[in-house]
Amino acid sequence: MHVSSMTLTECRGWLPAGKRAAVCFSVDDVHPASSRDEFDAGGDLGRGALGHVERLLDRHPQLRVTLFVTPDWRLRRLVPTRKWLTRIPVLRERIHWAPLTPRGHFRVDRFPEFVAYLNALPRTDCAPHGLNHAHPGPRMAVEFQEQSRSECSVLLEEARQIFAAAGLRHVQGFAAPAWRPRHAGERRSPNGDERAARRFSHPAYVDPVRIQR
Ligand SMILES: [Zn+2]
Repeated sequence: MHVSSMTLTECRGWLPAGKRAAVCFSVDDVHPASSRDEFDAGGDLGRGALGHVERLLDRHPQLRVTLFVTPDWRLRRLVPTRKWLTRIPVLRERIHWAPLTPRGHFRVDRFPEFVAYLNALPRTDCAPHGLNHAHPGPRMAVEFQEQSRSECSVLLEEARQIFAAAGLRHVQGFAAPAWRPRHAGERRSPNGDERAARRFSHPAYVDPVRIQR
């Protein structure tokens, strides 16, 4: 399990005194879609999935949670729905394999009640999880692939601006949608740049640092 090998060998003293391990609790793909849409991804607030998190926080006073929030979620399905188009060479790499909602539809700054709910959750950090979590081609949820470093930067800047416009309190850190290094020693960025790779892979290991607060 690559996460444990990473934290045990490179924890750099982030564990509180006397502690040898930590349980990291984070939730990905949080966005304003509710059960009135395709699925509840947080939009039902305490009445839905986030209510479970709320109750866990209530029962465990030492628990801290990181919610990775997608600023402008667009995937309407989590599995491919396109059929014959995905068999056509070249085209298959250029189309989205599942339908998308229009850009801006689930942009978090359009959902003040959702933002207020997240801001009010105790011991909860929010951090960006991509911009829209979608990409053309078979790896349809791996948002960062093939783009150049500057193209990735543009996406991240837009994500940051949406969080700012929404007034969503958030921390430094980032989880790239559906993107994982194959093991801890292998850090590849979408464009193969090693320095960028560190920026992309590191945030996956950010959460445990917060435990010591
Ligand atoms: Zn995700």
